[in-house]
Amino acid sequence: LTALLLTSAASAQAQDAVPYMDPKLPVEERVKDLLSRMSLEDKVGQMTQAERGNIKNLDDIGFYGFGSILSGGGSVPGDNSPEGWANMIDAFQRKALEAPLKIPMLYGIDAVHGHNNVYGATIFPHNIGLGATRDPELVKKIGAATAAEVYATGIRWTFSPCVCIARDERWGRTYESFGEDPEIATMMTSVIEGYQGDLGKPGTILATAKHYVGDGGTALDSSNTGNYSLDQGDTRISEEELRKIHLPPYKAAIEKGVGSIMASFSSFNGVKLHGHKYLLTDVLKNELGFKGFVISDWAGIDQISPDPAKNVREAINAGVDMVMEPNNYVRFTDTLTAEIKAGNIPMSRIDDAVSRILTQKFKLGLFENPFTDRSYFNQFGSQEHRDLARQAVRESLVLLKNEQVLPLKKDTARILVAGSNADDIGNQSGGWTMTWQGRSGDIIPGTTILQGIKSTVSASSKVDYVKWPEADEAKGYDLGIVVVGERPYAEGQGDKMDLSLGDGDRRAIQNVCAAMKCVVVVVSGRPQILTDDLPKMNALVAAWLPGSEGQGVADVLFGDFNFTGKLPISWPRNMDQLPINVGDKTYDPLFAYGFGLKY
Ligand code: BGC
Repeated sequence: LTALLLTSAASAQAQDAVPYMDPKLPVEERVKDLLSRMSLEDKVGQMTQAERGNIKNLDDIGFYGFGSILSGGGSVPGDNSPEGWANMIDAFQRKALEAPLKIPMLYGIDAVHGHNNVYGATIFPHNIGLGATRDPELVKKIGAATAAEVYATGIRWTFSPCVCIARDERWGRTYESFGEDPEIATMMTSVIEGYQGDLGKPGTILATAKHYVGDGGTALDSSNTGNYSLDQGDTRISEEELRKIHLPPYKAAIEKGVGSIMASFSSFNGVKLHGHKYLLTDVLKNELGFKGFVISDWAGIDQISPDPAKNVREAINAGVDMVMEPNNYVRFTDTLTAEIKAGNIPMSRIDDAVSRILTQKFKLGLFENPFTDRSYFNQFGSQEHRDLARQAVRESLVLLKNEQVLPLKKDTARILVAGSNADDIGNQSGGWTMTWQGRSGDIIPGTTILQGIKSTVSASSKVDYVKWPEADEAKGYDLGIVVVGERPYAEGQGDKMDLSLGDGDRRAIQNVCAAMKCVVVVVSGRPQILTDDLPKMNALVAAWLPGSEGQGVADVLFGDFNFTGKLPISWPRNMDQLPINVGDKTYDPLFAYGFGLKY
């Protein structure tokens, strides 16, 4: 036994002495050295990303040598605190490091508006609101704050930013977009500098620009199912238009050193992006010079065809480097291995994919620091981050109408607050909050807009909240604030052909605005159809999906700060105008792209 222990200690020492473990060597040399020591199975493992909830036996992590593990949008562990996450991820990492070559796994998560899967995180406005700020420096700071919170839980990779250009707001992912014009998403790739910082330093994480490419440009389709959908659809435009509208933010992201890019579920003129060699390899890697790795979307390669072997072959040959394989990693690794052995995927392609993945792991410093840095716990949900989020909320607000009601007076005697989104932090945060689809109600700590109003007005002011007041309940007030809008959703489940407000919210606007001066605040992931009710409103504010710091809305309504936000997306008069985008030949929106008042 002693002899055995001695040998394994000696081999552990030898392991530390191998060139790839030497942080002083250039990353390229380390990659080359490690690659030369890897078996085919090791390489296939690196190209595999398994889903946390689907790993039945933790020993599989070392056995398959997964390059990565992810938390899909819908799954959260039992102890949903930073410590709970850190413990879980460290346990996974220990398993990964049990394998002979000790290659750390890279954990990935959708931290798309703050570290939104973890209870108590600072929840920033969704991208559509950040687009309204036109403030790339602020967005960079948000990236850095989010990175610190993600890093605190032992995670080093976010599937963000979505640099999609939302061309049709019926699309359920419109709020993940910075806006309808590529100029904003291009500008907001600053968030990547915030996430990645000086990659490898404490508090930095790898970013993902997604979903490459044209995800927000899909055509409305009912051909297959009879149900209209835009999500994961087909982008039917010329290559010239694809390059003009959808490609620019990727160029900017690559210039900023983005470590990974996610392929889109959508197709370009009938060809799935996951199998699109021209766009993934010729354009992205060769022409634009992308040196990071391409990650597939959730089981995205399975959409290429009904044949699993063909899908693996086509996706990898097209340029996918790592496959998000939430369902069946046994099948995937077997299939990939068999395809390589059969000569259907060249070894040079595999080595390229693995080298790209390893390069990012070395840059992240994962080999030196594979475990959670617990000194970051105190940054999680910190006051400093919440103040930043509150500033972002203030800057994201767009004033669309003001008949000299705003700014409101803090000493207004009697204020009636109404509407379904006035006192609901879940609605205010939208999808991708605690769970994939998000949820109404008191799901995270923070302040609702109603709480923000209450803490802003004078002690002598009386603030009542009635969700949907009847005409008689709306009597006896000096001012009404009606906060209306959408309930949470994500992805295709948010594809909607009618963006009218709900009946309750419409009645609230009618009853409140008939009885007193009223301000309407819309909390939604995209413009809502307000044309008929607009004349009744004295003021109208678009607040998007502000997140955990509802106080920021009150800061601006009551005059501590002026409005600076500008529409990142055209506001249509009616559904028949959709899709509507600035630059259209006939362009007659209710409020134009770029519009935004001050008081
Ligand atoms: C989404 C991606 C996301 C992935 C992982 C997919 O459904 O399209 O944006 O990163 O899930 O949760």
